[in-house]
Amino acid sequence: MPLVSTTEMFKKAYHGGYAVGAFNVNNMEIVQGITEACQEQKAPVILQVSKGARAYANHTYLIKMVEAAVIECPDIPIALHLDHGNSFELCKDCIDGGFSSVMFDGSAMPYEENVKIAKMVADYAHAHGVVVEAELGQLAGVEDDVCAEEHSYTDPAVVQDFVEKTGVDSLAIAIGTSHGAYKFKPGQKPQLRFDILEEVSRRLPEFPIVLHGSSSVPQDMVAKVNKYGGAMPDAIGIPEEMLREAAKGAVCKINIDSDIRLAITAAVREHFALHPADFDPRQYLKPARQAVKDMVSHKLVDVLGCNGKA
Ligand SMILES: [Zn+2]
Repeated sequence: MPLVSTTEMFKKAYHGGYAVGAFNVNNMEIVQGITEACQEQKAPVILQVSKGARAYANHTYLIKMVEAAVIECPDIPIALHLDHGNSFELCKDCIDGGFSSVMFDGSAMPYEENVKIAKMVADYAHAHGVVVEAELGQLAGVEDDVCAEEHSYTDPAVVQDFVEKTGVDSLAIAIGTSHGAYKFKPGQKPQLRFDILEEVSRRLPEFPIVLHGSSSVPQDMVAKVNKYGGAMPDAIGIPEEMLREAAKGAVCKINIDSDIRLAITAAVREHFALHPADFDPRQYLKPARQAVKDMVSHKLVDVLGCNGKA
């Protein structure tokens, strides 16, 4: 099937008590690792591209790699999504350039400006058969160009007004997840504000909610990175059981990026440590790609619950 929007995926996920994984893609091995896992697990998938990914790999390369994945994985729905588009122009560029979904992130802007541009993006996107995710509240942490010191939790009191005024199709909210591999301080108990999620879903019935910054930073991966020469002390993520819980309700899309980065880095570091004479990139990118596939398979089955839902 050709690239799809997330409309059908979210409808099924909302009523099916699971979430669809949104994984960031930056190169061929990542695209292949993710989509091979999804094809094997019969899972719908959202491949997402950040502004940083476009700067790194170039829009055309990314589009063509995702198109190749669509051909290679004919049994699963694949959406191509812009992650954290921070302007109308960037969103328009991706809509014109073949994306099936875009995020307009105006969460750092004053509310009225966020509303105004999100509506412009939604109007333009809908006229082109593309769907829009927006964000209210702000996540802490760093990811590519997106950076904030502290959480500002989503205020459930404004979500209805925002969705009505803008016409967006899904909403990312801040309930304590955060970008990057250092989500909590050592000794700090990981917590998510499920009360906010509950209140938002009560005010927006049947409306798909998105969680960003939802890597779990598996400690065996961190240990492997550190064992083979890395330096990632105190990397901590969101416990997987909390995400599984969120996926049962209104959360239809869960963004996972850091765990894939971590899996690749651990695999490459291990390979270099055990095979110091290797210099053919295929020798270490092959285990890296396999590590992406294994990580994604685990997320589909044990966290998102979207295996078998394609
Ligand atoms: Zn994000």
